[in-house]
Amino acid sequence: MRASAYPLIDADEAASLVLERTPVLGTERVTLEHAAGRVLAEDVAATGPLPAFPSSAVDGYALRAADAGTTLRVLGESAAGRPFDGSVTAGTAARILTGGVVPDGADTVVMVEDTRLDGNHVKVPAELVAGANFHQVGADVTGGQTVLHAGMHLGAAEIGIAAATGHAQLTVRRRPRVALMSTGDELVEVGSTPGPGQIPDSNRWALLAALREAGAEVEVVGIAPDEAGALRSFVTRSLEKADALVTSGGVSVGTHDLVKPLLESLGTVHVGRVKLKPGKPFTFATLDGGKVAFGLPGFPVSSLVTFEVFVRPALRKMQGLVHLQRPTLPVRLGYDARPTAERTEYQRVTLRREGHDLVAETTGSQSSSRLLSLAGAHALVRVPAGDQILKAGTIVEAMVLSLP
Ligand code: AMP
Ligand code: MG
Repeated sequence: MRASAYPLIDADEAASLVLERTPVLGTERVTLEHAAGRVLAEDVAATGPLPAFPSSAVDGYALRAADAGTTLRVLGESAAGRPFDGSVTAGTAARILTGGVVPDGADTVVMVEDTRLDGNHVKVPAELVAGANFHQVGADVTGGQTVLHAGMHLGAAEIGIAAATGHAQLTVRRRPRVALMSTGDELVEVGSTPGPGQIPDSNRWALLAALREAGAEVEVVGIAPDEAGALRSFVTRSLEKADALVTSGGVSVGTHDLVKPLLESLGTVHVGRVKLKPGKPFTFATLDGGKVAFGLPGFPVSSLVTFEVFVRPALRKMQGLVHLQRPTLPVRLGYDARPTAERTEYQRVTLRREGHDLVAETTGSQSSSRLLSLAGAHALVRVPAGDQILKAGTIVEAMVLSLP
């Protein structure tokens, strides 16, 4: 082992360095069919008001509130999409259906349940209020109003609004194209039988899932050997079409850890060691052409925790999202948490509700090789560096992965 030349950087400082140097990607137009999960790149305004016409909220009769308590002659019908083309005058009404246009002259709608029809005449209640039971023009959205904002994640409601305001296509940020590579002579493809000293390449599948879930388009490069020349050609080839490179393994200070010197030769290493547990050897570099490279540690938990702390926020920035971090919540420790001197630690926990509190329970051994500590975890509890045990009952901040 040789000592690392890289300074140990505070975890928050490393996270800021990564975000500062991560670019926001360009835009493309997509049809609504392909908009789900994308991030809007421009504000979207309504071309006109919604509703665009006074629209009945019920089935009933459109009339003048001044005619309350009388019997009115029914002139015709206004159904959804088939307006009545006359006017309602004193002593008359038009039958109306939900979504139908309230005819000219009418200022209120009465529900069919509150009326009595006799042939062509309808008896209406004695108390009527103008403006009742229909939606006024522009009640939901005014013409020109910005209905969606740049930086919004497009989900079902946002896409529905785009459609309702007449936008068949939206301008969204490009998805980050990420080349994903595992490194290590010990790795074999999952499913083939490992020989002596070999293990399945599990990080590839874990990181592929994490990257896709975070919105990336992933090119899986495969397993690069622990040999400088071969690693270099894997990396340079995979970077041709990628915005970002994510590697796992090969970033600690053993003699087979070749990723840092390689990234150093291809660009600038900004983060080479972090005061973080797990994830001390996390490496971040910028490469020619505005590309970014994330060298994640090989231990399965370390690679996924550093993904959450550094890579996910960067992918969110690339996609133009406003909120870069996962939500955090204060939680009550259900166990005594032992901090690590000098390093911020993310401990894996499950959460349960107790009254108004969320109580965090440890997932057991927090060894960075033990991926079971992360499987089923609801949150990463942030334990600040220190030497004092945080007693059960202490309120700490947790990065929420999924709520129970
Ligand atoms: P490294 O960071 O390369 O020193 O690897 C640290 C530990 O993580 C070693 O025990 C490796 O065998 C293991 N490891 C590295 N890459 C992977 C991978 N892709 N899948 C599973 N374990 C890995
Ligand atoms: Mg290795």
